[in-house]
Amino acid sequence: MAIISIERMKKFMDIPKAAELLLTRNEKEIKFSISLKLKKEEIIFCEGYVVYHNVVLGPAKGGIRISPEVDIEETKKLATIMTYKNALAKIPFGGGKSGIKLDTERVDDFTRISIIKEFVHMIKEELEFNHYIPAPDLGSGPVDMAVIYGELHRPECVTGKPVRIGGLPGRREATGRGVAKSVFLTGERILKKKNSEIKVAIQGFGNVGRWTAYFLHKKGVKIVGVSDKWGGIYNENGIDIEKLFLHSPDRNKTVAGFPEAEDITNEELFTLDVDILIPAAIGGVVNERNAEEINAKVIVEGANDPVSEKGEKILYERGIPVLPDFFCNSGGVIASYIEWRNAKSGNQTEKEEVFEIIDKKIEKAFEEIEEIKGRIKGTYREAAMYIALTELIEAMRERAWL
Ligand code: NAD
Repeated sequence: MAIISIERMKKFMDIPKAAELLLTRNEKEIKFSISLKLKKEEIIFCEGYVVYHNVVLGPAKGGIRISPEVDIEETKKLATIMTYKNALAKIPFGGGKSGIKLDTERVDDFTRISIIKEFVHMIKEELEFNHYIPAPDLGSGPVDMAVIYGELHRPECVTGKPVRIGGLPGRREATGRGVAKSVFLTGERILKKKNSEIKVAIQGFGNVGRWTAYFLHKKGVKIVGVSDKWGGIYNENGIDIEKLFLHSPDRNKTVAGFPEAEDITNEELFTLDVDILIPAAIGGVVNERNAEEINAKVIVEGANDPVSEKGEKILYERGIPVLPDFFCNSGGVIASYIEWRNAKSGNQTEKEEVFEIIDKKIEKAFEEIEEIKGRIKGTYREAAMYIALTELIEAMRERAWL
């Protein structure tokens, strides 16, 4: 679900007709085909997409998703989420996203890098003029961002770069840091529990899942379940995340088979009796088929769009609140903004300072969401949408778009 339709939000606020028109279509959609000759009579083809949803606040910002499931519809949806994420975090970026339809498990590193270079050539102007600023997303990482930088030689053209070449210390952990902060706030202000009394389950042990787990574990939160695309693990006394990092050092090595836990399936992970469930892998995993079986007290969305509209309706009726993705996982884009700003100014920021900025922005947004939620008597998602829409509409007025 991620975003609530403008039509539904009209019951809470006045939305000018022109703003509705601007927010219900994409400013730009680019679709292209990448072809790469590997050797005689062996050519790889894959489709690429770039979407700018709305850029009233600034240049289009959003990650590159590399996956065989990517398509233009998904890219449009993810670009829209970015518009609201940036607006809620009060960052001067618009909503963008890109995708490369490719199964990275079926190509070697050399081929993958060549495909990234082709991607850059396809949208060179967009990148050079800073109209679209990519970052890592599902299936892409700092090395890919370094390749993009290498093609353009302009540090502000891409964020999520390795630290030595102008990347930001703490960018790797940033999204997980923000998701963990959302969990701490949920524990303290919604569940009224101490960290040591909170039990969580996390789907996904890639960039977002593993760093969320790391920060939660460090502060004494008990992580009883973790899963990835190959399977999951459960330990009712809590999983030692530092040891799990050794067992699964990166997203290509499964958590399954961890000796200090029993193996479970992804379906079982969703039914665990926990305080907080954190889907931090892919979209649509909580839906009308499993929402009745969820035993968590609150859902904190780590991934983009993990809870479907029908799923959320069932959860709402069961009294299980959902903290929306465009609030919980905004740590990454907050850090990206610092990296981009530094690339333009030459400044450097220490890791602890980055974490402090993320914590502060997440806490401020949480307080604003709670305040509006009380005022409009809506859900967390409706309140977050209200704030983001207010920002966007005001910015449209300031730019004389309305
Ligand atoms: P990643 O590729 O690093 O990790 C993805 C994880 O999900 C892996 O552990 C993988 O095994 C697991 N997974 C994939 N398919 C699965 C399936 N079918 N069932 C169970 N697990 C599955 O990706 P990431 O960067 O951690 O991104 C995860 C989610 O968070 C995505 O929705 C992404 O859009 C969102 N997100 C990422 C960032 C970021 O900074 N990386 C920022 C905001 C939002």
